[in-house]
Amino acid sequence: MPTTFDLIKRLVKENGREYAPQYALATLCMMLVAATTSVSAYVLKYVVDTIFVHQDRAALLGITVGIVVIFVAKGAAAYFSEVILGHIGNRLVAQTQKRMFDHMMKVDIAFFQKVSSSDLVTRMSYNASAVRDMLNMVSLNFGRDLFTIVGLVITMITLDPVLAGIALIGGPIAALASRKMVERIKKVTRREVESMSGIVRVTREVSQGVQVVKSFQLESTMRARMFHAIESVQQRANKMLSIQAGVNPMMETVGGCAVAAVVFYAGWRNLYHGESPGQFFAFITALLMCADPARRVSRVQLQLAAAAVGVRMMFEMIDTPAVEDEPPGRPELVVAKGGVEVKDVSFRYIVNKPVIEGMNLTVPAGKVTALVGHSGGGKTTIFSLLQRLRVPDSGVIEIDGQNIADVSLKSLRRNISVVGQEAFLFEGSILENIRAGNEGASEETCIEAAKAASAHEFILGLPRGYETQVGELGGHVSGGQRQRIALARAFLKNAPIILLDEPTSALDSETEDFIQRELRRLTEGRTTLVIAHRLSTILHADLIHVIEAGRVIESGTHEQLIAAGGAYSRLFKLQFAKFLETKPQPLAEAI
Ligand code: ADP
Ligand code: MG
Repeated sequence: MPTTFDLIKRLVKENGREYAPQYALATLCMMLVAATTSVSAYVLKYVVDTIFVHQDRAALLGITVGIVVIFVAKGAAAYFSEVILGHIGNRLVAQTQKRMFDHMMKVDIAFFQKVSSSDLVTRMSYNASAVRDMLNMVSLNFGRDLFTIVGLVITMITLDPVLAGIALIGGPIAALASRKMVERIKKVTRREVESMSGIVRVTREVSQGVQVVKSFQLESTMRARMFHAIESVQQRANKMLSIQAGVNPMMETVGGCAVAAVVFYAGWRNLYHGESPGQFFAFITALLMCADPARRVSRVQLQLAAAAVGVRMMFEMIDTPAVEDEPPGRPELVVAKGGVEVKDVSFRYIVNKPVIEGMNLTVPAGKVTALVGHSGGGKTTIFSLLQRLRVPDSGVIEIDGQNIADVSLKSLRRNISVVGQEAFLFEGSILENIRAGNEGASEETCIEAAKAASAHEFILGLPRGYETQVGELGGHVSGGQRQRIALARAFLKNAPIILLDEPTSALDSETEDFIQRELRRLTEGRTTLVIAHRLSTILHADLIHVIEAGRVIESGTHEQLIAAGGAYSRLFKLQFAKFLETKPQPLAEAI
């Protein structure tokens, strides 16, 4: 596991160049703060000796003006260093978030199964600010505070080397003690982040599943989960607090002893050797001025350890391989007819359990091919493989003779239109959701597509028509309406290959008939692969593949397969035959 120091090194390496000029400027300002602080302590020697002891009236005005100048300079330098660092910090957060998001779009889709969406939400905000915190802590503490301490120590040594030796003995002791606390902080922080993502998760579940929560009366379960997450964040925060607070008494004790030692030694020299008090006052001021920066520096290790957890998580994500990052210059997929061949393909989601096993499947160009079979057979998985959302463990998939693994991902996905089983809508207007099928499409074309998907009428019936907001995950429109909007989107995309995972329900039979007609128009002359749940689809298919446990066990037309009297005819008798007498209608949960 990378240490905190490794993380800082990597952050500096990756961001340093971009921010170097600004950091340099900020450091300059911080050095000025450090210098003026040291000088302000040193000046006290003259205040006491010249004005109070030697009663030098001429010097009074000069010294007063000098003090004003010093503090104005210090104030200005402090202001600029803070503003510059703040700006760098905000930009760092923004850059990190952009970088994480860009990466998120390219990682293997399996990543999203490993990392929950709540976890990602938490990471987006928490990890990005951890990056800022870490770099700013480093620059503030090693810039301003460490410079200040060094400046003040130099002042003390210049004033009185022996006294400085006595005063500074406590430093190393304090440093050793704070080491111990760092380990504890690391553990607590990681758990704090986890609990925080728990809060996000439950909130999201309640908001999206509110109807299920209410009808199954899961309120108390959800409440218990939420309270558990909230309380564990509270606990961690308390633990963190007590560890960090432990630094203060330690510093106070060490600091107090140093002050006492200095007073004793300097007092003894003044009382017994008649030494002037100016030196002592300047010295003790410098020592006391050290307290604040020293306190901060002694805490920085703890704070860095906490930030390191977030930075480490950020790198974890950035370092997951970006599988969709392809070398430039990959050949484009050229679709002339659109025939698809799946050759000896095997695939597994998790080790030990192949979902597709040595599958061979032909989807003839320009025809409608139906996949039927029991649920869990691997039909949806085939769609993922065709779009290269998943990559086969072995075997190849070809479109018009080109291996889809070799062509550019962009061109592959451009040529495939997908209507999934759960029509996914983005938050935004209906028009925007349709236009997602083709970003450049005019409003008229979108409306045409909506008409074809038999969505136009219900859309016009909505209070704001095409401008109606569909809500989060399309929550403001019904399941059937979502389906039709998704269909319109696919119509608009106008790709030569169509993948259709039929909804098992959600459409009434009249709309169903209409869409069937329109679908035929959409699929005319295009290669269509449909996971069929409806009798009408199956009867209209040019070719049917029966999928069972990751293999094609039978292929042919409806008549051929019935005549063969194999698996298809059994499946058909079992699930479809009863619908033959009546008019075609949705076969809810049939497959
Ligand atoms: P179908 O569409 O024919 O119902 P799927 O292709 O959805 O079948 O699923 C085939 C098998 O793969 C099922 O046993 C299912 O449990 C498994 N499966 C599907 N998706 C995943 C996934 N993301 N991770 C692990 N296993 C999965
Ligand atoms: Mg499926």
